[in-house]
Amino acid sequence: MKSANVLEKVLVTGGAGFLGSHLCERLLKTGADVLCVDNFFTGSKANIAHLIGKPTFELMRHDVTFPLYVEVDKIFNLACPASPVHYQYDPVQTAKTSVNGAINMLGLAKRLKARILQASTSEIYGDPEMHPQTEGYWGRVNPVGIRSCYDEGKRCAETLFFDYWRQHNLNIKVIRIFNTYGPRMHPDDGRVVSNFIVQALRGVDITLYGDGEQTRSFCYVDDLIEGMMAMMQSRDEITGPINMGNPTEFTMRELAELTLKLTGSKSKLSFLPLPSDDPRRRKPDITVAREQLGWSPKVSLEDGLKETVRYFRHTLDL
Ligand code: NAD
Ligand code: UDP
Ligand code: UDP
Repeated sequence: MKSANVLEKVLVTGGAGFLGSHLCERLLKTGADVLCVDNFFTGSKANIAHLIGKPTFELMRHDVTFPLYVEVDKIFNLACPASPVHYQYDPVQTAKTSVNGAINMLGLAKRLKARILQASTSEIYGDPEMHPQTEGYWGRVNPVGIRSCYDEGKRCAETLFFDYWRQHNLNIKVIRIFNTYGPRMHPDDGRVVSNFIVQALRGVDITLYGDGEQTRSFCYVDDLIEGMMAMMQSRDEITGPINMGNPTEFTMRELAELTLKLTGSKSKLSFLPLPSDDPRRRKPDITVAREQLGWSPKVSLEDGLKETVRYFRHTLDL
């Protein structure tokens, strides 16, 4: 048991990214001593500029595919580009980040006997035959397609987490994050929420891929961060994998129409080809998160989009 005056040291890999920066902020509010590690591939100093200078926040430029020797009590492993545009830019590096990065962070956790959480993904399920997706579903993933560097990299990382748990008795936590959005998304990362908002604010065409009838379920970032915190604080037996996302499902056409309504934009819809291996439907079954963590999302898509629109209006000066 730690004495009350010793700050808990928490490592966040990918801490300068979209989710990582919100997590660092949230951890600092709990009084933790936060070490943010990032190679700035998709993250930026701007995301954490407001944290630099705080006595309990430390930033370290480092690529997790290389070993890392630091002293911490807990590790959140988020380092990995998350949008298809970014993770397909250098697919070999994406796979290395997921796999070698996981090995290094697990090796670090093993040496320190630290608790470690993996930010896994709904992409584990690929283009699913089961709807909604439960944690027991093994997925339908193309091993040799353009999304495979990410999907299979993340699947292999989950395998490593469970092998370190079985073999070395490591204290692991694996969450499968479904599409999450909010302030500090990268405006050019090609993800649908940021694309639609930025297009609507600029008054250019909204790009719908395919017929726009494919579905996703969008979770607002604040809800997700609460889920991550609850998972990290859960009792040792809870390893996951646990789905985290908002189970309310929308078609991309509905998302486009809602974005137009909230921005008051006159942009038109334009239809472009569907990228290969693009999942048709995605919606989390979050029964396990509700039962084991008492967690469920609270923010509606409309409210979350309003905040995100406000953010893009401000940062892009639109
Ligand atoms: P992001 O791209 O904004 O953040 C990823 C961060 O990792 C960036 O700051 C990037 O610079 C850093 N990074 C990448 N490779 C690295 C490396 N080799 N070494 C050190 N740092 C590295 O993406 P995000 O949306 O914040 O995603 C964070 C994590 O959550 C990722 O692991 C992603 O797979 C997972 N996730 C996100 C979503 C989502 O909807 N946002 C969904 C499922 C899973
Ligand atoms: N590692 C690290 N920091 C540490 C301990 C280990 O980065 O504090 C890395 C190291 O590169 C190692 C990997 O984690 O290769 C896996 O460690 P593990 O102890 O599981 O295996 P081994 O050292 O036998 O390869
Ligand atoms: N999408 C779209 N227009 C865009 C960007 C994405 O219609 O400008 C679609 C994409 O084809 C997919 C969905 O929106 O069906 C979600 O895409 P995103 O890249 O945000 O996430 P992922 O496919 O990884 O769930």
